[in-house]
Amino acid sequence: MASTFSIHPSIDNGIAPGAKDFAGGTLVCKCASNPVKVEVKSQSAHNHACGCTKCWKPAGALFSVVAVVPRSSITVTENADKLAIVDPNAGIQRYACKGCGVHLFGRIENKEHAFYGLDFIHTELSPQAGWSEPGFAAFVSSIIEGGADPAIMGDVRSKLKSIGLEPYDCLNPPLMDALATHAAKKSGVLKA
Ligand SMILES: [Zn+2]
Ligand SMILES: [Zn+2]
Repeated sequence: MASTFSIHPSIDNGIAPGAKDFAGGTLVCKCASNPVKVEVKSQSAHNHACGCTKCWKPAGALFSVVAVVPRSSITVTENADKLAIVDPNAGIQRYACKGCGVHLFGRIENKEHAFYGLDFIHTELSPQAGWSEPGFAAFVSSIIEGGADPAIMGDVRSKLKSIGLEPYDCLNPPLMDALATHAAKKSGVLKA
């Protein structure tokens, strides 16, 4: 089936598997001069396509591709002065380049958050190959809120499945279970 939409340029034609011993790389924004550079000293985890309206997506893509790394693995090494937080009130504070708009990393400052300690990154910003490959698609229905035609949703879900990404309208079951476990421990329903 020929698709007239792009899920994301890095996965439209299939997914390249990550490299086993990969240990990180450098994220570079899209500015032609003085790009922001962020060093990541870790392989990524939980990489996935995300249809939410908050993640940074390349032009024309319906989804972002976003992964997590330990926040301690991230260091801004060049042009840190170009970074600004997109929405300081959001659960994930996304640091974007004021020049090109690319999000270099997203950080959770709320220590009570289930995913505190993890930063969100877009591995496509790195020239290095070997990052963990995307394994599922999250917040698929949300692409409609981003402007996608509701009529293409069947084709979008078929395309995701054909490239090996199970489509979910929230996160995948392991991450939803982690969120619920965190909430249940906090409320006392589940003993820690
Ligand atoms: Zn930039
Ligand atoms: Zn997202």
